[in-house]
Amino acid sequence: MSVRVRYAPSPTGHLHIGNARTALFNYLFAKKHGGTFIVRIEDTDTERNVESGEASQLKYLQWLGLDWDESVDQGGNYGPYRQLERLDIYQKYADLLLEKGLAYKCYCTTEELEQERKEMIDSGSDQWHYSRKCLHAPEQDKPYVLRFLVPDNKEYTFEDLVKGEVTFRSEDIGDWVMMKNNGIPTYNFACAVDDHLMEISHVLRGEDHITNTPKQMMVYDALGWKAPVFGHMTLIVNDENKKLSKRDFSIIQYIEQYQELGYLPDAMFNFISLLGWSPKSDEEILSPSQIEELFDETRLSKSPAKFDKDKLAFINNRYIKELDQEEMIELCMPHLIKEGIIEDHNNEWVESLVNVFQDRMSYGAQIVDLYDEFFEQEFVLDQEMKVFLDQEGVSNTLQTFRDLLLELEEFTAENIKPLIKETGKIAGSKGKMLFMPLRIATTASMHGPDLPQVLALLGKEAVIERLNKNL
Ligand code: GLU
Repeated sequence: MSVRVRYAPSPTGHLHIGNARTALFNYLFAKKHGGTFIVRIEDTDTERNVESGEASQLKYLQWLGLDWDESVDQGGNYGPYRQLERLDIYQKYADLLLEKGLAYKCYCTTEELEQERKEMIDSGSDQWHYSRKCLHAPEQDKPYVLRFLVPDNKEYTFEDLVKGEVTFRSEDIGDWVMMKNNGIPTYNFACAVDDHLMEISHVLRGEDHITNTPKQMMVYDALGWKAPVFGHMTLIVNDENKKLSKRDFSIIQYIEQYQELGYLPDAMFNFISLLGWSPKSDEEILSPSQIEELFDETRLSKSPAKFDKDKLAFINNRYIKELDQEEMIELCMPHLIKEGIIEDHNNEWVESLVNVFQDRMSYGAQIVDLYDEFFEQEFVLDQEMKVFLDQEGVSNTLQTFRDLLLELEEFTAENIKPLIKETGKIAGSKGKMLFMPLRIATTASMHGPDLPQVLALLGKEAVIERLNKNL
């Protein structure tokens, strides 16, 4: 059997981190088994569709590096890949089910259904199922929906790729709407028809869809089709073990936002792949091709995947550290321009800026925060620093350094570097007694990035002023 998997977004919004994970695991599954990865647009919920939804989904899948083999853009042998372009197909199978008596027309209005639901709940029932009032209703000249006639006393059992054996009972499922009164199918019906016709071999999706699976199995049974293998991936949860909700603003949830903030696609690929999957080794930094190589669906986790923000920052930082200077500038430039930071500075200054902060960054826009922190923080020495500067010989070192810097015409890191050594020679200080006073007196800190780079960034005037102040 050839492996064919699909990611089936509804174009109701942008690419969410949870959907990106579904797409990624499908993509990896296809790669692992030499299969085909399909993107099918499930646009039957017309009221919730947004205009740019489809384009945005595709754009950010591509940004993550998830190329597909068949979809709305380049087609394929199983199209169309947009559900609204397949309405005649669903109609054909709906008619077939109607003919076989496995579906029926329901003329109930929303108000009638609401009344029915209320009565059932009032009578103590905890679950409402449609009463089948219309099951034998005569043909009427009124709008109707098609309901699937759920078989009585039937168990639906499947071997879930992630969860193992799962069973649902038909008593727990009411006759569900498969075609709306406008001739548009509902998700469960369209999905089952398409998965069959597109010869989908494995359906990998989020756990939130597991209760849909028995409904889809009913469609396969009713039409005499073989069901695909199902796999439901565990939920993504926040720090408090709560399901990631779109209203949880403490976690950035859309891929577009990550791109805008200057996260790197390979790092995101890496991070997302670890949301509910892990390789045999403990290694966490893995390139897309390594992950493709290592991916193994039997290692998909059964317990919820924690969205660990620290891990996200750690992974992105590791990828940023690997960038060369040009890539680093490309990453930071849009943010520097947006904040009006580069206006008064030349290329060398920008190079120093990104060099100084590269190792500390986990996303591009962070350069702005680091810049603000660096230039706008108040210059205050704590007790430890003051004690350090009070030691014998320190003022001589500072003075010597200041005098050498005063002579310097081109205030670049390259030119500043030898002057530190020179200061040591002249003032007779070395090691910690040389570097530490210079760092404290110019940056009010005992640690930090490469000092000559930092000083070049601060600029001559600020550095001399700070040295004078400390003298
Ligand atoms: N359109 C559905 C969604 O976006 C797809 C679910 C499935 O993969 O079957 O959630």
